[in-house]
Amino acid sequence: MAPLQMVDLKRQYLKIKPQIDAAIANVIDTTAFINGPDVKLFAQELQDYLQVKHVIPCANGTDAIQIALMALGLKPGDEVITPSFTYIATVEVVALLGLKPVFVEVDEATFTMTPESLKAAITPETKAIIPVHLYGQSAAMKEILDIAAEHNIPVIEDTAQAIGGTYTFPDGTKKMNGTMGAIGTTSFFPSKNLGCYGDGGAIFTNDDVLAEKLYMIANHGQKVKYYHDMVGCNSRLDTIQAAILRIKLRELDGYCDTRRAVADYYDNAFANHANIITPKRASYSHHVYHQYTLQLDNVNRDKVQEKLTERGIPSMIYYPVPSHKQKMFDGMDVEQVELATTDYLNKRVISLPIHTEMTEEEMQFITRNFIEVVNELTAN
Ligand SMILES: *Cc1c(COP(=O)(O)O)cnc(C)c1O
Repeated sequence: MAPLQMVDLKRQYLKIKPQIDAAIANVIDTTAFINGPDVKLFAQELQDYLQVKHVIPCANGTDAIQIALMALGLKPGDEVITPSFTYIATVEVVALLGLKPVFVEVDEATFTMTPESLKAAITPETKAIIPVHLYGQSAAMKEILDIAAEHNIPVIEDTAQAIGGTYTFPDGTKKMNGTMGAIGTTSFFPSKNLGCYGDGGAIFTNDDVLAEKLYMIANHGQKVKYYHDMVGCNSRLDTIQAAILRIKLRELDGYCDTRRAVADYYDNAFANHANIITPKRASYSHHVYHQYTLQLDNVNRDKVQEKLTERGIPSMIYYPVPSHKQKMFDGMDVEQVELATTDYLNKRVISLPIHTEMTEEEMQFITRNFIEVVNELTAN
């Protein structure tokens, strides 16, 4: 068995190598490196896939959130509600723009923003809400959208970890993650479910006015070349990355299915173990398992990781420090919040390898050893 990795991009590449190599060669051959035809074609294909009116490609998933916030025309000091239990990018751009992050709690079982804590955090200063579809699972969008609508606050969905996943509303309507709020954002970082071979990102919206603004902000505030109507930034998706993404988008549903199959295997293997709590699948969410993140109960997590490493099994903690406790917010106008569930989860979560190329042998090896290690550490 080859060394285990959290994500195996090499094996994935080898399966689509001829198409990828040809697509890259074609971009180089035509030297259409910036805003080449593949960028527009990819945006159109992603629009069709997501059933959304506009896709604006950009340089990465962090820029995507930044540009989304800029398009809402917020003023310094406006409050933006986000979970603390997320990758730092979600929160960092809020602070970068001089806006005030207001951290709210996540659900203990689904790891996503709770409607109750969102409701409690809303003030007259709240000007945006950013739910995160963490680990590949949709946030509780019906409740979040209802609360947002009641206060007329736009929702930006951070879909960096959940592209390809869907949310089902109580009336049975199904929507792709990232297409329910005013704006959706995603990342094409190589390890994401739809990853390119470098950096990339995109912004989605069904709103024509917002779409134009988003496009302009990502392109130096211009609609017509050299005429700059607003302060924007320079955030483009490279043509080479777009060409790669066109090929990988065709594989995305298959990639999501294989990730779900790994999660099924793990769930079965760990079912009913007293110290292993498998991730919950919310009934409204088609979970696409960007991560397989479980909780350890009454086991020393550091020791588990140590013993897994000895056995050649990688594991990760996403994320070791919650956003509201990061030093970057020291001295900043961030409310001192108590987030008991976030702190609790931060000490309990551990993520196991999950990717599109896992073999039965690898899954068997990982689950057998994981259970052995947990049993050893809880034996007395
Ligand atoms: C990866 C990620 C981002 C940022 O994406 P980049 O392309 O790395 O900038 C934002 N939010 C979440 C939840 C992510 O996982």
